[in-house]
Amino acid sequence: MMGEAQRQSTLTCPHCARAETLKMPLDACVVAHVCVSCGARLTPRKGDCCVFCSYGDVPCPPVQGSADCCGGPMDEGG
Ligand SMILES: [Zn+2]
Repeated sequence: MMGEAQRQSTLTCPHCARAETLKMPLDACVVAHVCVSCGARLTPRKGDCCVFCSYGDVPCPPVQGSADCCGGPMDEGG
């Protein structure tokens, strides 16, 4: 049963531990985010579709719904 997807995720920078609560788009994956604190450019870990799945406390809406997201991991061979 489709519940309400969480639209916000708290992204924690792996470099400086700065947490930012961000709104997630329902129809796109966020594959790059620049930390407001240290300026690090965050990209998804291998196997994750977006920065929320890698660094957020809530995965992106398609993943919450167990749906395919963006056709799979984008970071092949990284
Ligand atoms: Zn940072």
